[in-house]
Amino acid sequence: MDIVVRPKILVVGAGFAGVGCVRRLERKLGSDEADVALVTPVSYQLYLPLLPQVASGVLTPQSIAVSLRRSRKYRTRIIPGGAIGVDPKAKVCVVRKITGEIVNERYDHIVLAPGSVTRTFDIPGLTDNARGMKTLAEAAFLRDHVISQLDLADASQDEAERAARLQFVVVGGGYAGTETAACLRRLTQNAVKRYPRLDPKLIKWHLIDIAPKLMPELGDKLGRSAQEILRKRGIDISLGVSIAKAGPDEVTFTDGRVIPTHTLIWTAGVAASPLMATLGAETVKGRLAVSSEMSLPGHDGVFALGDAAAVPDEAKDTEGAVCPPTAQHAMRQGKHVADNVIASLRGQRMTPYVHNDLGLVVDLGGLDAVSKPLGFELRGLPAQVVARGYHWSALRTNVAKVRVATNWALNAVAGHDFVATGLLSRSSAKLRDFEHTGAYLTPEQIRERTANG
Ligand SMILES: Cc1cc2nc3c(=O)[nH]c(=O)nc-3n(C[C@H](O)[C@H](O)[C@H](O)COP(=O)(O)OP(=O)(O)OC[C@H]3O[C@@H](n4cnc5c(N)ncnc54)[C@H](O)[C@@H]3O)c2cc1C
Repeated sequence: MDIVVRPKILVVGAGFAGVGCVRRLERKLGSDEADVALVTPVSYQLYLPLLPQVASGVLTPQSIAVSLRRSRKYRTRIIPGGAIGVDPKAKVCVVRKITGEIVNERYDHIVLAPGSVTRTFDIPGLTDNARGMKTLAEAAFLRDHVISQLDLADASQDEAERAARLQFVVVGGGYAGTETAACLRRLTQNAVKRYPRLDPKLIKWHLIDIAPKLMPELGDKLGRSAQEILRKRGIDISLGVSIAKAGPDEVTFTDGRVIPTHTLIWTAGVAASPLMATLGAETVKGRLAVSSEMSLPGHDGVFALGDAAAVPDEAKDTEGAVCPPTAQHAMRQGKHVADNVIASLRGQRMTPYVHNDLGLVVDLGGLDAVSKPLGFELRGLPAQVVARGYHWSALRTNVAKVRVATNWALNAVAGHDFVATGLLSRSSAKLRDFEHTGAYLTPEQIRERTANG
């Protein structure tokens, strides 16, 4: 009997880009045309734009962790682990399974979509003392941590300790930092009503950014509106300022101010996954330099997209422009790259990725939001309807849609839930502990592994 060997497509990363690609492959590719495998450390797709709402307790963690196995056409082999290196010449991806076992996965086509990691700088004490906002665990930890600060301040007899526990610093004025500060400020504002011994005036949130503007993508008028909402909510905004050093109980700003605090949240940008450097190919600020078809020049069968890749932005006239790292692009690139992989399998022509930006939505919690759909500037309730409507419709499964809608409704009726679960409080949840940036191999280590079979 002849054994039929089908081409193998290996997708790395189950985020917006990876899942978009896998679902399209499952739909469009005949089961006898190719085998599809997906390398992912978790069995869900995280809907990252709603992460600040998990950190503030508006949504439960499960509501934005969309199951990979809930799909009518689901037939992909899921490999539980993380890719730690790729040898594009040998066509091998080295995977560390969640058990710690390291295996070589051979492929004919590889689609690299491992996203990004939190970008850090060489600031003394930063990775040991800051908390990130990039994973579900970080958001859940943060929620517990903030509520615990209120509990500890309430119990303390020491005025200085109480003041330090009630100060919070968020670094990064992009949408992640702005939404996080806005949503968590609302949480503490509402929670403090249940702590009659605490003076609400002692709660201080600082949002700082080295740039001169918050979310410059919003434009001047809408950016100012967002800033006004945050200021009215009592958030102290400092622009042109960063962190000089971070300690366990105080943070020093570059303008010389020393803030006593136990909470430093770091959302100052992202950098492409370290996996991209293992290929030894050209990168643009760490993102793998691919063509507008999202394939890697000079390497057969390698595709990359999403936050991890510098995909030329064909919708812009500017030479050298690349697509920004947003969910909007990653989702669409996922579908498009699947079409190109299929075209390449069938010997057809691949097409370039072109997408005109649809705008931006920023949910500041409650009825406050600013949105810019298709260039129209919206504020308040209309902006919030657009923001939540957009996110809700972008959730991939009906179960996730129902969970999120129910949580929003419950929050509107019953207010914030401020119970620290305690399940997470023993672990430190600092930047150093998440994202596993030290796990990757060097190109030499990968070649050594693939040469030895
Ligand atoms: C708090 C926050 C708010 C945001 N808000 C918005 C917003 O409002 N609008 C917007 O457009 N964008 C927003 N973004 C950005 C957006 O989420 C990203 O641009 C988008 O997720 C990128 O998609 P991706 O598929 O490239 O990566 P991701 O969605 O990050 O997915 C990458 C996946 O790869 C996995 N992975 C990582 N390393 C490996 C490895 N070595 N091996 C295997 N798997 C791996 C990860 O676990 C993850 O599942 C926000 C981001 C954050 C953090």
